[in-house]
Amino acid sequence: MVNRVAFVTGASRGIGRATALSLCRAGFDVVVASPAIESNQELAAEIRACSGKAMAVNLDVTSPGSVKDAFAKALKDRGRIDVLVNNAGITRDGLAVRMKPADWDRVLQINLYGAFSCIQAVLPGMMRNRWGRIINIVSVVGQAGAAGQANYAASKAGLIGLTKSLAQEMGRREITVNAVAPGYIETDMTKGLPDEVKQTILASIPLARIGTPDDVAAAVKFLAGEDAGYITGQVLAVNGGMYM
Ligand code: NDP
Repeated sequence: MVNRVAFVTGASRGIGRATALSLCRAGFDVVVASPAIESNQELAAEIRACSGKAMAVNLDVTSPGSVKDAFAKALKDRGRIDVLVNNAGITRDGLAVRMKPADWDRVLQINLYGAFSCIQAVLPGMMRNRWGRIINIVSVVGQAGAAGQANYAASKAGLIGLTKSLAQEMGRREITVNAVAPGYIETDMTKGLPDEVKQTILASIPLARIGTPDDVAAAVKFLAGEDAGYITGQVLAVNGGMYM
């Protein structure tokens, strides 16, 4: 059996980091990618220490040159990319009526256009190998919407549409394309929320706790594995039941 290679974007912290470590523990070779190469090197060393294989590449998903270089480097070193986890993402919140065009653009550029660039970089190899797993990290906000997050919701809803379309295009090549939709997860992205907002969100979660990066990583690991081979075009919610 081939050693599967997984490429995780936005792997320097939060959900991406937990996903990279979880895939490594499951036996994948892991390529960790983000704009902060130094912390990637640390993470790569951590992954190697957990007896996995890892490499770090510098990747800004909004730069075509960076995307080209990062995937070329990974392919040269590892020979193949079997799993792509499109995890890189940001928020730039604000009410739509006052939202700056730059905040709208930046969120769409990273969360949606960036994911598409990475998909285009891995598809030819996956199509040749007739095997692939693409997992897009979306959000409960892309499913339900959220006041103050029109840009973010649009980017994640767009990514859900992309997931379903690509699943239909790629099924015959044994490439599955799925999305994981986290709810409220404790990471740098959410730590700045005011306490009263956190309490309101918490009150809406049937499982009565905030999620962890490991909760999301477990779902990604499942979808990346051989056992998930008959699942495609799905949005797997990891949200404690806050949106059903
Ligand atoms: P973090 O803010 O903790 O981490 C974001 C990651 O994205 C970092 O590794 C960051 O790199 C990377 N990144 C930012 N800009 C770029 C770029 N231009 N190119 C490549 N990588 C980039 O976020 P989370 O771990 O919380 O979120 C991960 C994903 O999960 C995102 O897509 C987010 O939308 C989604 N999500 C998160 C939820 C939550 O509650 N936390 C809920 C639902 C979805 P660097 O370290 O260099 O900045």
